[in-house]
Amino acid sequence: MSNNIEGKIVVLTGASSGIGEATAKELAGHGAKLVLAARREERLQELQKAIENKGGEARYKVTDVVSTEQMQELAQFALDTYGKIDVMVNNAGLMPQSLLHKLKTDEWDRMIDVNIKGVLYGIAAVLPHMRERKAGHIINVSSVAGHEVFPGSAVYSGSKFAVRAITEGLRKEEAANNIRTTILSPGAIDTELTETITDSDVKQGVDELYKQAIHPDSMARAIRYAVAEPGDVSVNELIVRPTSQE
Ligand code: NDP
Repeated sequence: MSNNIEGKIVVLTGASSGIGEATAKELAGHGAKLVLAARREERLQELQKAIENKGGEARYKVTDVVSTEQMQELAQFALDTYGKIDVMVNNAGLMPQSLLHKLKTDEWDRMIDVNIKGVLYGIAAVLPHMRERKAGHIINVSSVAGHEVFPGSAVYSGSKFAVRAITEGLRKEEAANNIRTTILSPGAIDTELTETITDSDVKQGVDELYKQAIHPDSMARAIRYAVAEPGDVSVNELIVRPTSQE
């Protein structure tokens, strides 16, 4: 019996580490063919090899999600290679949290560019194709911080609330076109994400919170579940965090 993952073409941003890397391995292990995207080419090469060594299939394309042109090229690469895109996972993100009065405006810009515009450009890159096929699945990674705001998380949370709003709008607009949407909202996950924090006042609290962080495989399994559901089932949102996280 089909697992509803085998043979699916999955484009995945932020594939070079953390949740993206774990998700690529998980989906490839269940028979999906992956198109991996991120900026660090060596990491992508290593991941492709690791997937191939286990009998899976993956290609990669170095991509900066803040470039709408590069995102279009990524989708075109997937279409040229495999002829279709079944699933788009907009996972790339960064979290340089800081207190607003520190006025780290460059970091605010980066979060808005990568976390919001990157997701929009990912949607733009695949939506015409999915509408034409009347089939597809767009998975956008938000956060528990897309449900709650903490001191230091104002801009990051703003970006992740936006991801949820955009995804819900997409769901309502494209339900009739048979396009599934999923929002994944992770809690504290043990990845490189907290390394982007430069505000020492915030870093201490985050490091304390992340002592309980769980393995990114937990997020990969959540995404696998959403992908594996039958086509008439749309898993619209998953919040997955450490059991101990308040
Ligand atoms: P990582 O830092 O391990 O991974 C982030 C990924 O995003 C990397 O692959 C990085 O690749 C990629 N990325 C960053 N900027 C760009 C860019 N401009 N263009 C393309 N790729 C980019 O963190 P996580 O795996 O934890 O993060 C994945 C997602 O999960 C993010 O959206 C994050 O906000 C979200 N999340 C994570 C949580 C956690 O606790 N870890 C909690 C809640 C949400 P490269 O640098 O090679 O480009």
